[in-house]
Amino acid sequence: MASFRALDIPEQVITILGENGYKEPSEVQLSVIPRALRGESILAQSPTGSGKTHSFLIPIISRVDPSLGRLQAIIIAPTRELARQTYLFAEPFNKGIEGLRIRLYSGENERAGDLEGLASSSPQVAIGTPGRLLDLLTSGVLSPKYVKTVVLDEADMLLDMGFFDECASIMEKLENPQTLVFSATLKEHLKSALSKFVKASFSFEGGVEKTAGEVKHVFVDSRHQDRYQAAVRLFKNKKPFLGILFVSKREEAPIAHRALKEAGFDCVVYSGDLSERERKKTMKAIRENKYQIIVASDLLARGIDLPDVDMVVSLDLPNELDFYFHRAGRTGRFGKVGESYLFYDSDDASRTSMLLEQCSPKFMTLKGDRLVDDPVGLLPKKKLNKTKKYGDDEQREIAIVKAKHSGKKIKPGYKKKKQADIDKVKRKYRKKAIRENIRKNLGKAKK
Ligand code: AMP
Repeated sequence: MASFRALDIPEQVITILGENGYKEPSEVQLSVIPRALRGESILAQSPTGSGKTHSFLIPIISRVDPSLGRLQAIIIAPTRELARQTYLFAEPFNKGIEGLRIRLYSGENERAGDLEGLASSSPQVAIGTPGRLLDLLTSGVLSPKYVKTVVLDEADMLLDMGFFDECASIMEKLENPQTLVFSATLKEHLKSALSKFVKASFSFEGGVEKTAGEVKHVFVDSRHQDRYQAAVRLFKNKKPFLGILFVSKREEAPIAHRALKEAGFDCVVYSGDLSERERKKTMKAIRENKYQIIVASDLLARGIDLPDVDMVVSLDLPNELDFYFHRAGRTGRFGKVGESYLFYDSDDASRTSMLLEQCSPKFMTLKGDRLVDDPVGLLPKKKLNKTKKYGDDEQREIAIVKAKHSGKKIKPGYKKKKQADIDKVKRKYRKKAIRENIRKNLGKAKK
């Protein structure tokens, strides 16, 4: 069994980890920590909830010198919420290691005069959003001179939110720092944008799933249904410990909230409509388990760690399909099991079908409060041969591909494209069969 002790981490750090319930390193930690301790720069793609925050916190804390009142590491996060979350993970070390000062720069907790004299007794580690950190480094409140490590956390989100210019400006102020980049996804356009200011010697790609492995996906056809009431019925049926209902439009949040409240749920809204102060207060209450259901906009979809979430419901398809996986990633944290439900409209089957390559959902429908299997799934209901059973996953996916192509006869090359898509499905299942066979044979050999 792997242990933190084998990773050459200082004893005091291991003790604090143990006191906080961290006994064994996760896959990403096992791979990243030893290299980061050696000062290597790293590009790490890791499913959300895999323990990536500690993959950079542990080496940073192990490498900074707490006896020096100099800034030695910078952690850049895309939002204040995520910066605060990282700070909360860092707090036990901040308290437990003498002389260590890790500071969160989030704007709202800094009053005038707070920052005076900071340069002379600087924290060793600064956590914050790009604009805020750049301001502090430019105005001289923080000195870039002795910074040896910089982290870009949730890099895909930093890019999407247009923060790469600020990140590059921060990097320009530093002298050849170790750079640790973490991202839930590592798409080509992200890698190429990063290559302009990050030189990583090692890249870690953890898992192909878009969310942690333990998430079960269920797609529920909710055409002609009142989705708010459908969500109420689903929550009544599943009784989650902590559930999130995602809405794509902010204005839907109060409606969903009212419906849930009237049905007797302890619930709260978390969206961009709240002020910064209200958001902070709400998040604190959520973390203290004061609510059973959070009605949230996609503000809560990325990076936020709420380990107790066991069920996520998407009231509809998000505007950007990738957000479905960000939403689903709020559950199944650190190997726990979780369920992600999506209400879809079978009239919009083609957009929904785009999600199939990255997850294998179960199709179900709601009958009253009960969930029952939907053998039809995404197949257009009228095109379905009612007597045929689509129990076999491969047959079902092939039928979906055929149905998807059925209205495209005018486009040139439609036959080829259709056949290519069918072949792709077949290849996927052939590979799966081979893998299963190998596993079976290995099992037999072991016996
Ligand atoms: P992430 O957002 O990827 O940093 O995942 C963080 C979640 O995983 C948090 O709930 C952590 O408390 C938990 N976590 C991280 N590392 C470990 C570990 N080695 N053992 C147990 N839980 C961990």
